[in-house]
Amino acid sequence: MLQINPETVTPDSLRTDIEKHLKFSLGKDAAHASLYDWRIALSLTLRDRVVEPWFASTRQTYEGKHKRVYYLSMEFLIGRLIEDVIINLDLEENARVAMNALGQDYHAVVADEPDAALGNGGLGRLAACFMDSLSTLAIPAYGYGIRYEHGLFEQHFENGQQMESAEAWLEQRHVWEFERPEVAYPIHFGGHVRTENGQASWEPGETVVASAHDTPTVGWQGKWANTLRLWAAKPAALFDLESFNRGDYIGASVAESLARTISRVLYPDDTTEVGKELRLKQEYFFTAASLQDILRRFLSEGHALATLPDHVAIQLNDTHPAIAGPELVRLLVDVHSLEMEPAIELARATLNYTNHTLLPEALERWSEGLFSRILPRHYQIIQHIEAAHFERVGTQVRIIEDGNVKMGELAFIMASHVNGVSALHSDLVKETVFADLNALYPGRILNQTNGVTPRRWLHACNPALRRVITDTIGTGWQDDLERLSELEPNLDDTGFLDAYDTAKRSNKQRLAQWLKAEHGMSLNTDAMFDVQIKRIHEYKRQHLNILETIALWNDIRANPDGDWTPRVKIFGGKAAPGYVLAKSIIRLINDVAKTLNQDPVTRDLLQVVYPENYNVSMAELLIPASDLSEQISTAGKEASGTGNMKLSLNGSPTIGTLDGANVEIRDHVGEENFFLFGLTASEVEARRAEHAYARNAIKYSPRLSMALEQIAAGEFSGGDKTRYQDVLTNLYDHDYFLVTCDFDSYFDAQRRVDAAYRDQRGWTRKAATNTARMGWFSSDRTIRGYAEEIWNAPSVR
Ligand SMILES: *Cc1c(COP(=O)(O)O)cnc(C)c1O
Repeated sequence: MLQINPETVTPDSLRTDIEKHLKFSLGKDAAHASLYDWRIALSLTLRDRVVEPWFASTRQTYEGKHKRVYYLSMEFLIGRLIEDVIINLDLEENARVAMNALGQDYHAVVADEPDAALGNGGLGRLAACFMDSLSTLAIPAYGYGIRYEHGLFEQHFENGQQMESAEAWLEQRHVWEFERPEVAYPIHFGGHVRTENGQASWEPGETVVASAHDTPTVGWQGKWANTLRLWAAKPAALFDLESFNRGDYIGASVAESLARTISRVLYPDDTTEVGKELRLKQEYFFTAASLQDILRRFLSEGHALATLPDHVAIQLNDTHPAIAGPELVRLLVDVHSLEMEPAIELARATLNYTNHTLLPEALERWSEGLFSRILPRHYQIIQHIEAAHFERVGTQVRIIEDGNVKMGELAFIMASHVNGVSALHSDLVKETVFADLNALYPGRILNQTNGVTPRRWLHACNPALRRVITDTIGTGWQDDLERLSELEPNLDDTGFLDAYDTAKRSNKQRLAQWLKAEHGMSLNTDAMFDVQIKRIHEYKRQHLNILETIALWNDIRANPDGDWTPRVKIFGGKAAPGYVLAKSIIRLINDVAKTLNQDPVTRDLLQVVYPENYNVSMAELLIPASDLSEQISTAGKEASGTGNMKLSLNGSPTIGTLDGANVEIRDHVGEENFFLFGLTASEVEARRAEHAYARNAIKYSPRLSMALEQIAAGEFSGGDKTRYQDVLTNLYDHDYFLVTCDFDSYFDAQRRVDAAYRDQRGWTRKAATNTARMGWFSSDRTIRGYAEEIWNAPSVR
């Protein structure tokens, strides 16, 4: 058991420290301190309390020679760090009292921290949840990624259209990280490979330096803290000009401008292929820096290289770091003088790969020309990997094919385990993208269904529900989420259901107040809050939702005195800046919102709101207030989803398709607490083979036909008949994502939702049942699965 600093923290000791930091770290007199000053002073005070457990964890890992896990990810969508620390150190109450005593509003101080938005969506948020669980479970681990100067763009709407502006989180002082100028590695690009006496050496054309910045990530109750190490690119000239530029000053200035761009911006898309040189350089940059760092730490402990997999497990979050295969081989062969074949085997035994998507356009490929120009030595090594693979299994599998380097095949062949992120997705990985490789390596593909951290996604974001749960089953569920099942005996208890309902209502009021204050929107808190929050993408089908909204509006107008269930439809999400159709969908939602919200006949029954700039902090407000969770992707397209888990856990039953983790959520919460609709993955495949399936579906659905005709007639666009030509043409003539085919089934499921919601008690029971049965979806369970089945890395506790 780890001994942590037993120093007790009281509101008074916090207050004293905050005042000290204000004075000595910020040089501010309390009388002139701004909200920002108070936040930094509070953050520094909290950070002081993370350092001890962090040191102790590192010490214990070295002393015990424990195996370490390395999680390589292009994205970490962390959000606010101040909340993580306050919650995990159990300092919420004390910090509130201390800030009040200093005359400051605790909530305003916390909300002043900008989100660390170093990711696009689910993939990056998963990495952040995993860091929380790795620390909570006391598994020695490092997260490795890029310290982007600009995170995901900020979204705002002009005339309903998405506009993007650069995000600048680092313009303020970022106190959670420690700069490590002494931890720096040269990263090379380009040049050529020279071979002498059969010995290859890479003579690079450009070099930048990767410089480490460490953020401690503390687990539940502060018992363990791991490190998130993010790399910033710096010009080589500041590092050691002589040793790798050899006085080549022109080369040095090239490197300087390259260094400036390499860690500057996050690519704002993780679902389409980018094919850009800078992206390849970013991927290689952080992977190469991380591997040098991993090998340095490993060798410093005095181990023999052959024992690498006994001490090191590396997880590749998607193919973005798949260059780790050839890079590790390169280090072993070119730097540490191993033979090629054993080096390939050693690298493979150390690496594992998580697949996140089946969308063909998202599978990474680099043109052979670009790849061999930027990474000439790796290009050679990949040819060796292909040859070694052929030697071993006697079947040719091409990594380099038709002029492309295929990163999925590379990641698979160089991994000891490959995993999907939900049961359905892992099955589809075996049957589709990697069917051939699965036949050659049966058992290599396994499943680890995603999860979410219950500390942030229940305890921290939903204090009202947290209290109801703790009042009912006691504490301890935060790191043992399956204990939520102890709520089950209370699901028919009037007192419990009243308390559950009161918590939901207060969360809806909290959201309404925030939307009023920040976005000038007024909403009816007695209505059902129907929430779809996620990246805007055709496969996620926000257009299916907005078409149903139009159809419902038509029905209400035709019979305004009917027995309607009042609804507020809430949308949130960003579209990739280059994704034209997704941007049209955003504009359509905003146009429909404008029209409907002005209709005096329907506006109390049906309202549409779309607050701009959805991010982690907004999710933390929206999720506890949601009554209905929209998880309506085309079956077979959403690998897992994690928004679906957060919402269900917080008492928001799902309307959804049999896609991703929805399947497992429905198994857990029970089919009577889940509103199922739509084609299954295999039915989707079959329907796509039918002639004119979209036009036929539209023809036989009067409601859908009418909604589409209204859009075409300019009813939501001030008479502009051309504004949504792209959306309409796509739906009539193509509709790859089968919006038209699922429309009627979705509309009917929504009417089942209406009926169920009218029984208020019955609905609260469904919501509470969702909470009681979602314990399995904790990311602690996911991480235990990786630790046991993939990493062989036990907890140190
Ligand atoms: C959880 C989360 C996501 C993932 O949502 P999905 O519905 O699974 O796509 C995306 N963005 C943010 C900010 C999140 O918190």
